Amino acid sequence: MHVLRFIEKSLSRSLRFSFLVINNSISSSSKMAPTVKANAPSEVQIDVSAELEATLKKRIMILDGGMGTMIQSYRLEEEDFRGEEFKNHSHNLKGNNDFLSLTQPHIIEEIHKGYLEAGSDIIETNTFSGTSIAQADYGTEHLVYRLNKTSAEIAKRAAKEVTEATGVKRYVAGAMGPTNRTLSISPSVENPGYRNITFDELVEAYAEQGRGLLDGGSDILMVETIFDTANAKAALFAIDKLFESEYKPVPIFVSGTIVDKSGRTLSGQTTDAFVISVSHSKPLSIGLNCALGANEMRPFIEAVGLCTTAYVLCYPNAGLPNTFGGYDETPEVTAEQLKNFAKDGLVNLVGGCCGTTPAHIKAIAEAVRPFKPRPMPEDHFANAMNLSGLWILSFIRFMFSFPPTPSLTSSSTSSSSSSSSPSSSSSSSQCSYQDFIHWGPQDL
Ligand SMILES: [Zn+2]
Repeated sequence: MHVLRFIEKSLSRSLRFSFLVINNSISSSSKMAPTVKANAPSEVQIDVSAELEATLKKRIMILDGGMGTMIQSYRLEEEDFRGEEFKNHSHNLKGNNDFLSLTQPHIIEEIHKGYLEAGSDIIETNTFSGTSIAQADYGTEHLVYRLNKTSAEIAKRAAKEVTEATGVKRYVAGAMGPTNRTLSISPSVENPGYRNITFDELVEAYAEQGRGLLDGGSDILMVETIFDTANAKAALFAIDKLFESEYKPVPIFVSGTIVDKSGRTLSGQTTDAFVISVSHSKPLSIGLNCALGANEMRPFIEAVGLCTTAYVLCYPNAGLPNTFGGYDETPEVTAEQLKNFAKDGLVNLVGGCCGTTPAHIKAIAEAVRPFKPRPMPEDHFANAMNLSGLWILSFIRFMFSFPPTPSLTSSSTSSSSSSSSPSSSSSSSQCSYQDFIHWGPQDL
């Protein structure tokens, strides 16, 4: 496994080409389980995962809605962001929404409670930009651990209060955003090979964020709004390291974002390639958020569902932004669209992203309530090795028997110059290139 991890890391850093082996032992018995390492998870954390799964099997769970757009509605000014403690801070803080967890915690708690009372089962911490990388713009990178821990504590407080008031268990997902730097795309037009961040720097930053979120009591870690899978892989690697050495595992949620109707992330991956790229983290739930409205997301949510045996989540924006950057879609419209997703068995968790409000969440929760959650599909990728770059490639597993059999060697040699030609193999070979399959979403 260490060798595979090394290859995976190397490829993602140098070639932006990710690598995954789906193992039979994983796919049969524990394919839905969160990452569980040998360092014995605690009773409490096993319960969270089991509780979530038990509920997800029964009904569609509800996430919360947009945090940023709700904060905007308070029309806060620079002095509000600074509060008393940071009134002499060297940088402007207006716009640093995460920082409000430190300076205006009552506002953040009020927003959380609004969503919980609207029907959210899971709320996200106010930590979308809570890494030292994103906070450096405000000169607040030294406060990242405290910011994340405090944010998780605020969300937990709100969740506990509403759980006790309603008798319905609520959960907190520690939000880990994409940061404002990217491993896959150069910020310099003149130098396409230039990067202003490294994989190791991102891992370090995400580990620091993860520590704060876990120490604050997050029930779930959620790597979200992923526009560059290489960044997300750094976050997932950091989480894996935390679970190996410092913390008991909690369920992982992963959510990508696609930039337009091509269904690709900003770094160019198709939706299915994105899913394969992050599935090694064994997320309990995987899906898409932000960027588009629900209707435009539909074919890509379908693609996610075809590529994973994890629970599928979807939390779209309130439609596409208008010319002023605002969102016009009413709760009824968003809810009707997600209702159709639920009716067609596409989703297990739904919520909202930019522009959505507690009114949207209430309408969504009511709209999807009559429908059963997405049933677990057949695992299309069992017995396969899946390679994921901008597209996906899948190889049937027995092609890679080790040590190589004579038939494999002879087949590979004879066909080595025509690996892209599936029909050029000997029919007598156990491991012929007829065993090679190239899957796009249209083939599934
Ligand atoms: Zn959004």
